Amino acid sequence: MITTKNTEDLLEYDKLQYPLFDIICYFDRLSVDLYNKNICVTDLFRSEDEHREICRKKGVDFYLSVHMFGRGADIRSWQYSKEEAEYLRDMINLNWIHGYDGYQVCILHKLGNGAYHFHLQVSDRTRKKEGN
Ligand SMILES: [Zn+2]
Repeated sequence: MITTKNTEDLLEYDKLQYPLFDIICYFDRLSVDLYNKNICVTDLFRSEDEHREICRKKGVDFYLSVHMFGRGADIRSWQYSKEEAEYLRDMINLNWIHGYDGYQVCILHKLGNGAYHFHLQVSDRTRKKEGN
């Protein structure tokens, strides 16, 4: 089951670009089947103002984020061991193709406070790998 950190995020699913919601569902099914853990979506759509505020708090210059275009989703990772988290990331990237060189659909990266999270991102070329 997909859970969310902020319930208002549930209202943002219609702002997501295809196939991001499909990938979130895929991620959740994998997580439940393999580890019996529901995923927790911590951030989806961000308005420009919300993203500016995040940049200000981080102390970095404003940059365009995929979250502003319905192309990004963050998922909590602390509930998984390092091995579990890396396996989930690798399975997503094996089954979903970002479509642009050097980019992957699922990244496991550190936040400003040192905690890790999953960042999912899609482009206009993102697709499920053939035969899976
Ligand atoms: Zn993100």
